[in-house]
Amino acid sequence: MNEKIDQIRLLLTTLENELENDQEKEFSNNFSALELPNIVSSIVDFLHPLLTPNQLAVYWYIFNKSIIKTGTQYTRTSTSEMSRYVAKSGTKQVEDLSSKLISNAISFLKEKEIISIVGDTTRDGTLYKVCIPDEIPICKELMKAQILEDPQSINLETELDFYNVAENRLKIFERDGYKCHYCNKQLTRFSSSLDHIQPVSKGGDNSFSNLITACLHCNSERGNKPVMDYVISRSERKQTTLFEE
Ligand SMILES: [Zn+2]
Repeated sequence: MNEKIDQIRLLLTTLENELENDQEKEFSNNFSALELPNIVSSIVDFLHPLLTPNQLAVYWYIFNKSIIKTGTQYTRTSTSEMSRYVAKSGTKQVEDLSSKLISNAISFLKEKEIISIVGDTTRDGTLYKVCIPDEIPICKELMKAQILEDPQSINLETELDFYNVAENRLKIFERDGYKCHYCNKQLTRFSSSLDHIQPVSKGGDNSFSNLITACLHCNSERGNKPVMDYVISRSERKQTTLFEE
């Protein structure tokens, strides 16, 4: 009897691990379909070279408070809040950022239109909008310079790639009105992901007609299932829930 229970346990653990691996794989597949990793990567490529470490620390603090935490480009913060949280040295080998350094960093970010003030200042601080590289003038210049330097990036093949080319991805989201193809949820630039109608593993390409906007949930849930199978299984599930009610 004990032996059998041990066998069942072993089987369950194996199953659980397999499931976890599948979910992890699916997550990492879909993570690249999401817009946020592209934005982070464009910040590293086109904003990092232009800023000092202090300015970057302030930028990432505001970025995290807005885009990451709320999915919007707006957040309220103050110099005193930032001098408390932006760069606290844990080791004492580096000095904390003073209010003065933070104010200097904010002035520079504002001057270069990397962040902007969009509302009145209250007790909780000032309402800021954090911009992303394709909205920031100095980043746009750097992007343009790089395209000129590397004419390969404007060949026909990349122009037709709507998955790997950031501007092209936006064309798909705009075509679909930033709505999930499956559940019709209204998404934002930061919560949209791209889904291949015909999966790449089954010969699908990155063309305009093979990509649709989906939320991360539906994108994950569909996985590599054929679109029609997934749509049918969704509507069946919906009917069962209606029936149960
Ligand atoms: Zn959805």
